[in-house]
Amino acid sequence: MTAGERRWLIAGNWKMHTTYEEALELAEAIQRRCPSLPNVEVILIPPFPWIVPLVERLRGSSIALGGQTCSAYDQGAYTGEVSARMIAPFCRYVIVGHSERRRLFGETDEVVAAKLRVALRYGLRPILCVGESLEEREAGATLHVVERQLRSACESLSLAECERVVIAYEPVWAIGTGKPATPSDAQSVAEWIRRWFVLRFGDVGKELRILYGGSVTAENAPGFFKAPDIDGALVGGASLDATQFCGIVEATQSVEARSE
Ligand code: PEP
Repeated sequence: MTAGERRWLIAGNWKMHTTYEEALELAEAIQRRCPSLPNVEVILIPPFPWIVPLVERLRGSSIALGGQTCSAYDQGAYTGEVSARMIAPFCRYVIVGHSERRRLFGETDEVVAAKLRVALRYGLRPILCVGESLEEREAGATLHVVERQLRSACESLSLAECERVVIAYEPVWAIGTGKPATPSDAQSVAEWIRRWFVLRFGDVGKELRILYGGSVTAENAPGFFKAPDIDGALVGGASLDATQFCGIVEATQSVEARSE
């Protein structure tokens, strides 16, 4: 499969934002404004309590939902946790290993790997976030960090499991800072990630969807989408603004043909 054939994926991570009313309003505005494009998958990733009401609101639309994380456990006495099994009937995707979970909530590579497995077991498509901190980047350790994160979560996947995984390359220093990576830096890491998958999973690696995340806006999105190994974006801040978010969706169409 060539870059031109991989379907774009634009996912909006609302993090811990929106009240119930704001969530419904935002979803409706996005549904109204975003073009429905056959080659673009649009995913909203709201806080857990808004998932079920949004399923109702989005019925009949092509927009699907995702979870922001899931428990590493199946079920049981884990107060406050939300399992993949609970959200699977309502969500197509789930983020695992977001840097905020790793950094603020102590999620180790092992925990992230367990979450990825449980997500797959319940039929969800995990969006695995990988990326280096500023210190790691300055120490020249970007690929070392990304490799460690990929190996821990993905090395023992079957081909069928690998087909359902999406990778989001999100340099930690670019998240929420208004300072995105350059498209060419993001492309080099995305290309490296794809090679890593192709070495282990053959052609499935060529089909893998790789997103860039970190201060993506409607204005800078076209630059990232021209990169041959970037298949979309994981969007934080700009996903809370329907005009911005739909501008990012539309930016996929500004790319005429992507080279391999
Ligand atoms: C994110 O949290 O995954 C993210 C990319 O955030 P932002 O777009 O705000 O940088």
